[in-house]
Amino acid sequence: MAEVQTVQGPVDAAELGVTLGHEHVRFRDEAVAAQWPGRYDEEGELQTALEVVGAARDKGVRTILDATAMFGGRDVRFMKRVADESGVRIVCCTGIYSYDYLPHYFENRDIDVMADHFVEDIERGAQGSDIRAAFLKCAADAAGVTEHVEKIHRACARASLQTGAPIMAHSMPAVGTGPRQVEIFEQEGVDLTRVQIAHCGDTEDVGYIEGLLAKGVYVGLDRYGLEMYLPIDKRNATTAELLHRGHAERLILSQDFCASIDWFPAEAAKAFEAQGAIRNWSMTLVFEEVVPTLREMGVLDDAGFQTIFVENPRRWMAGS
Ligand SMILES: [Zn+2]
Repeated sequence: MAEVQTVQGPVDAAELGVTLGHEHVRFRDEAVAAQWPGRYDEEGELQTALEVVGAARDKGVRTILDATAMFGGRDVRFMKRVADESGVRIVCCTGIYSYDYLPHYFENRDIDVMADHFVEDIERGAQGSDIRAAFLKCAADAAGVTEHVEKIHRACARASLQTGAPIMAHSMPAVGTGPRQVEIFEQEGVDLTRVQIAHCGDTEDVGYIEGLLAKGVYVGLDRYGLEMYLPIDKRNATTAELLHRGHAERLILSQDFCASIDWFPAEAAKAFEAQGAIRNWSMTLVFEEVVPTLREMGVLDDAGFQTIFVENPRRWMAGS
């Protein structure tokens, strides 16, 4: 079977095991962190990441796909430390996580040059290391598929065609970005069975999700615990309906959890929990509250668990 690059080197895709398809061992603004490093506690972040990933390991997780790209503070050496010390494999990505902004550097260079940067990360190594990225990341959010967002999507598509690496696209169902994102990949000639449209679980609109599935892509039901976008009971109802309709082989369940995130001061993060904007958000929530509920609802058995948490991430990563 095909090999998958992890931050510790290649593994046989058959060895990936139970996989969380969309998480972050740390999320921060790399520019702020570079300018004011004293505001960050690197050692504390490492310990937090190890606790979080260790808890996932105790639930049987063997591999985590870390979706942190440029502007999320991607740090492949940090990821490797987490993998080395936790015993859980981490797969890192390349690409640009932006809802519109592009540095002048990329604004004034063409799509193929951007794609070359991504290819370098996949074929040679990222951030001056020999740690190779294994998937591509782009994003579209409230602003929709802007000119810059489209450029990043096309660069990801071209890098995917050159390397065979799959693509994960952050989407925003509330403004319906998914179909246009898929359309761009299709125009570029990407194999849509190697595309994952993330955050589809933020909507209850099963018809919208089925429209994407009809194109052959994977859909991420990957923000369990982020109640501000959709509460868990509605997420479970959507997942159950998709399973009931026979889409088990295209679903990626995860939490988009960030072991640490610098977006908010600590007080604000606490307030979110108190206000119910997040609830039990963690790297283990799917095993604690989602899998048991889906089993009770009669839409998930042992084989279904294997499909969703082992075979789907593996097939998306390595092809079938
Ligand atoms: Zn994410």
